[in-house]
Amino acid sequence: MPQEVGDARSRLPQLDALLRHPAAEEPIDTHGRRAVAEALRGELERARHALRDGRGPVPRDHELVAAADDALHRQRAGRLTRVINATGVVLHTNLGRAPLSAAARAAVAAAAGYTTLEYELDRGTRGSRTRHVGALAAEACGTEGATAVNNGAAALLLVLAALADGREVIVSRGELIEIGGSYRLPDVMAASGARMVEVGTTNRTRLSDYRAAITDESALLLKVHRSNYDVVGFTEEVSVAALAELGREQGVPTVYDLGSGLLRAVPDGPLTAEPTVEAAVRAGADLTIFSGDKLLGGPQAGLVVGRADLLLRCNQHPLARAVRLDKLQRAALEATLEAHLRDDLPLEVPALAMLHADVATIEQRARWMAAELGEGATPVATEGLVGGGASPGVTLASWGVTLGTADPDGLARRLRAAEVPVIARVERDHVLLDLRTVPPSLDAEVVDLVLGSRDG
Ligand SMILES: *Cc1c(COP(=O)(O)O)cnc(C)c1O
Repeated sequence: MPQEVGDARSRLPQLDALLRHPAAEEPIDTHGRRAVAEALRGELERARHALRDGRGPVPRDHELVAAADDALHRQRAGRLTRVINATGVVLHTNLGRAPLSAAARAAVAAAAGYTTLEYELDRGTRGSRTRHVGALAAEACGTEGATAVNNGAAALLLVLAALADGREVIVSRGELIEIGGSYRLPDVMAASGARMVEVGTTNRTRLSDYRAAITDESALLLKVHRSNYDVVGFTEEVSVAALAELGREQGVPTVYDLGSGLLRAVPDGPLTAEPTVEAAVRAGADLTIFSGDKLLGGPQAGLVVGRADLLLRCNQHPLARAVRLDKLQRAALEATLEAHLRDDLPLEVPALAMLHADVATIEQRARWMAAELGEGATPVATEGLVGGGASPGVTLASWGVTLGTADPDGLARRLRAAEVPVIARVERDHVLLDLRTVPPSLDAEVVDLVLGSRDG
């Protein structure tokens, strides 16, 4: 080791001295002493490496403290952060799918402390975590029973494990779906302990295919909604009604993984092609599974609705504990279900309000916003998406504002770095803000945030 490098390294300050530096006071207030010490250790280590490699002068104390502060800020920026969704994708998976209603938010806040999660107020005894929320879901869906777990994938896993472990589940080759984030139906099936029996072909499956596959080992007939893709052309699939009838005749329950969870049809809306929970129940599915945070518009959850005897077996399975709902989910889900019970199309649920928002109103807002933003901002007709792996072929006529710029990526990055990050669409020569997914109450805030991000 050359003598002068060893000397330079020995001129680095002690950690304690850095922690006593006046510039360290604020970071210690913000992040805590331990975190600042850890970050400073990292900076000292980096400086030691640089000096050993003969790079750079010995850093000054205040530079080390500032570098540690920056590192802490970058690290903390990873925390869950409120954003404004200007993408036009209503159930944006990366942005947390459905935004909660005001009532659901209030219920979450109220449930954050001690609650009656598993407590009977009347008798002062232990109560059921899911009985009340299950009763609301059953009422909303018109079923004998219902339960709720952590998410849709967990709901299917639990149903398969509880009702088909070690036995056979018959499913069409045309419905072996993959949803984003490594959810693949055959893998879920394998994890549950059920044996998958595939019938039919990718594009055509007939009732006779299912019938031929039924044996003494058959535990369930499974129908899966192709929620995120379409099969077009020479196709054939079996309706849930026909499948359920076959199942009843053969004594094998039918489970419908509906995924998107639209409760009932809304005439003239954008979702007329979407299957509904109501129709699935009416068609005779013994259990229907869907997510809480797709078209129901509530929190992340997986709902299972249908026959009480099958639900009892699900609730008593050991996995039920592992996939249970937490108190915040339950609070938001109850508030969301109450909204659906009050109203066939509860527009207090933000996702539903956004999906059904009148395009003329969105146009007015886009024109107002473009005028407020001034030069370079242009109101435009655009198209949004339902998102969340629902209604893949459906686009939502919408309006937005384009922000002309020579550097769309740069502007989009500055918008993401705004005090409240604005997530926009980046196109070839502009950035687009689609207003369908921006609550009207945030329009003025968006204007301020965009004006503050324009230059840079
Ligand atoms: C979305 C979806 C799931 C998974 O639900 P999560 O709530 O995301 O876990 C399962 N099946 C279908 C058909 C879906 O669309």
